[in-house]
Amino acid sequence: MQIPFIDLKSQYAHIADDVQAAIKTVLDHGKYLMGPEVTQLEQELAQYTGAKHVITCSSGTDALVMALMALDIGPGDAVITTPFTFFATVEAISLLGATPIFADIEAHSYLIDPVEIEKAIKNCPSHLTVKAIMPVDLFGQSCDYEEINAIAKKHGLHCIADAAQSFGSTYKGKTCGNLSDITATSFYPSKPLSCYGDGGAVFLNDDELATQLRSIRIHGQSFESKYVNQRIGLTARLDTIQAAILLQKLPLLDDELSKRRQFATYYDQKLGSLVERPLINPERVSAWAHYSILVDDPEALCEHLTKHSIPFARYYPVPMHLQAAMTHLGHEKGAFPVSEITADRILSLPLHPYMTHEQIDYIVDKVEQFMVSR
Ligand SMILES: *Cc1c(COP(=O)(O)O)cnc(C)c1O
Repeated sequence: MQIPFIDLKSQYAHIADDVQAAIKTVLDHGKYLMGPEVTQLEQELAQYTGAKHVITCSSGTDALVMALMALDIGPGDAVITTPFTFFATVEAISLLGATPIFADIEAHSYLIDPVEIEKAIKNCPSHLTVKAIMPVDLFGQSCDYEEINAIAKKHGLHCIADAAQSFGSTYKGKTCGNLSDITATSFYPSKPLSCYGDGGAVFLNDDELATQLRSIRIHGQSFESKYVNQRIGLTARLDTIQAAILLQKLPLLDDELSKRRQFATYYDQKLGSLVERPLINPERVSAWAHYSILVDDPEALCEHLTKHSIPFARYYPVPMHLQAAMTHLGHEKGAFPVSEITADRILSLPLHPYMTHEQIDYIVDKVEQFMVSR
């Protein structure tokens, strides 16, 4: 049985003609950057999320960097975030010279723990000023935004949601992109809504910040004249071709999200109490970027899965405070125990909208075989 970890080829087969026609349209009109497809995509994404402004950009990482730049966050500032995430979250903060301050995750959801955020704010070293909270919607489930926004408000902080994995998720009936001050997402090929290369977007309701972000995206240009640069910016546009591709994929998203949910539920039923996994809060609908489980010896399970040609990923075996690039922060093992134990035990199984129940039966069968042999 051939099981892809994420199946972009099957998705492409459904939309190949439309995608090729959309790319050809761009090649013909020749507006390779900031073409009409970019504007149309931003309008459709605004409609989908309910966010007033959508600024597409070159990647999820750049979306985070742009959000931090628009808020003037830099040296001497601290941003509270989770140690259990993809490196880009802390990379963006560090790139601007700000300091990531970690707050451990909840043991049941693997998402940043609001109680730990409060502690991190209280214990922030006096030479730093906490400016923002950057929660991460890991594996597709949104964080507890009501709680986190209340903490942000109480302390006068911004909340920048790293929603790279959660586009299409909902929280208490509200859509991702409209749950905090600023939301950043990614259209990297393995994300729930993806393009055929790198891409991302920032979502927000604030007019002034939106203007800043549009300027930052293009070298800090002024809108009166492209020869006037008002600030230091980036080259962070989304290619028109990628926008054209996303316009073809967006109409598939809701159906794909519902299939991801169905397959995740099927995994849940089949796995029963065999392995631990993150709990999804009943008031949140996950975008199911990844289906992850916890086992005591993930490396041994990886070997077993490889033997049976089942692909897997380890999202993420090294928490951020223990990353080589973060040693200057001076954290030791044991500093964020919930993240560490989760990282030690985590493993993600194949999940995408184009799988079959038979494939899940086969995968669960092999996981079960491994578990009973222990
Ligand atoms: C993928 C990802 C990013 C970065 O997105 P890119 O488009 O690859 O730059 C940031 N944060 C998280 C949590 C991610 O999963």
